Amino acid sequence: MAATEAEADIHLDGVSKRFGEMTAVDDLTMSIPRGSFYAMLGPSGCGKTTTLRMIGGFEDPTAGKVYLGGADVTQHPPYKRDVNTVFQSYALFPHLSVEKNVAFGLERKKIGKSEALKRAHEALELVQLDHVGKRKPAQLSGGQQQRVALARALVNRPRALLLDEPLGALDLRLRKQLQIELKRIQQDVGITFVHVTHDQEEAMSMADTIAVMNGGKIEQAGSATDLYERPRTAFVANFLGISNLIDAKVTGDQRVTTHDGAQLHAPECAGLTGDVRIGVRPEKITLVPAGEAVPDGSNVLKGKILVAAFLGVSIQYVIQAAGGEELNVFAQNFSGSEPEALAVGREVQLVWRPEHTFVVERG
Ligand code: ATP
Repeated sequence: MAATEAEADIHLDGVSKRFGEMTAVDDLTMSIPRGSFYAMLGPSGCGKTTTLRMIGGFEDPTAGKVYLGGADVTQHPPYKRDVNTVFQSYALFPHLSVEKNVAFGLERKKIGKSEALKRAHEALELVQLDHVGKRKPAQLSGGQQQRVALARALVNRPRALLLDEPLGALDLRLRKQLQIELKRIQQDVGITFVHVTHDQEEAMSMADTIAVMNGGKIEQAGSATDLYERPRTAFVANFLGISNLIDAKVTGDQRVTTHDGAQLHAPECAGLTGDVRIGVRPEKITLVPAGEAVPDGSNVLKGKILVAAFLGVSIQYVIQAAGGEELNVFAQNFSGSEPEALAVGREVQLVWRPEHTFVVERG
C-alpha cells in the first residue's frame, strides 16, 4: 500500500540521525497512510526505535523533516504532536487505580473529572478491561497492565499511536493473544498504528505494511505477502523466513542458468542481464525421486537428501543441490510417516513453478 506524500498521515522526508560518528538512521524517506497498521521490522540496532522517537518528538533529526497530517512538526516537542507512544515498560502510576491511570492525561488537559472517567471507561472497554477499573496496576497481570497502557494512550484519540516493542516483556502465549487483540483494536479505532518489533511473525500477523530496516535504511516496504513472496534483497529474504538463494546467470528472456547447468524459468528476470541471485521458499518446492516425471514447465534442480527432519505435520528436508547450495524443503506429510523414496542419501529433483522464483540481486 503505497501512500502519496499528500495522503500520508506520517511522512518522513530525508530524515537522518547521527549520534557522534554513528549514523543510526540514514536519509530515510517514508510515508505511512492514515489508518494503517505499519510495522517497522529489523534486527537490534537497525534504527527502528530512533525512527519512532523522531516521529514522537523525543529525538531531533540531524537532517530531514517530519510531517504529521501534512504539517511540518520537525521542531515541535512531543506534547505538541498529536501522537502517543506505548513503550515496552508500561510506566503506569502504581498508586492510582486503573481508571485513574487512564483518565490522568485527560484531567491534565482540563477535561472535567466525570467526563474524563467516562472516556477512561470507554477506552478500557476497547481493551476489554472495563471490569478492573478500580484495581491498582499491581493487581493485574503483565498483559493486562500493557492493555491499560494502551487504553491510556488511546483515551484522547490521538492521530497516531507509536508502539515500541509493546509486547516484548510478555511471555509467548500472551504475546500471541495480544497481537490479535492489538490488530482488532486498531481496526476498531481506525487510527494509524506504527509498531516497532524485531519479531517477523509479530509484524506479519498484524501489519498492513511492513518496512524492513537494516543499517538505518528501509530495505523494502510492502505487505507481508509481498515481502515474503517477492523479497528484493537477500537481507529481506533471510529475515522473513528461509530463502534458498541460488547464484545464476541470465541466459535468455526470463531464463537463467545455474552453476551446474540447470536451466530455470524466472519471470522476474525479465529485462535483466549478467549475474543474478534467485530464490524460492521451502514450501513452494516439491521433492520428486530422481528419474520420475515432473509437470511440464516446472523448474527442476537435482540434489541429494542430507537431512530429513520429521516434524509431524510436515517434514523438513535439507538438500545438497548439484550446484553446491544447501536448500531447504518443507513437505506436507500426508501419510504420517517419512516416505521411503525420500530417505537420507536419495537422489531427488527439486521441482517448483517458475512464478515462485524471486530475484534478490540483479545483474
Ligand atoms: P533495538 O531493537 O535493539 O532497540 P533498534 O533497531 O531500535 O534496536 P535503535 O535503538 O534505533 O535501534 O539504535 C540504532 C543505533 O543507534 C544503535 O547502534 C544504537 O546503539 C545507536 N543509538 C541509539 N540511541 C543512541 C544514543 N542516545 N546515543 C548513542 N547511540 C545511540
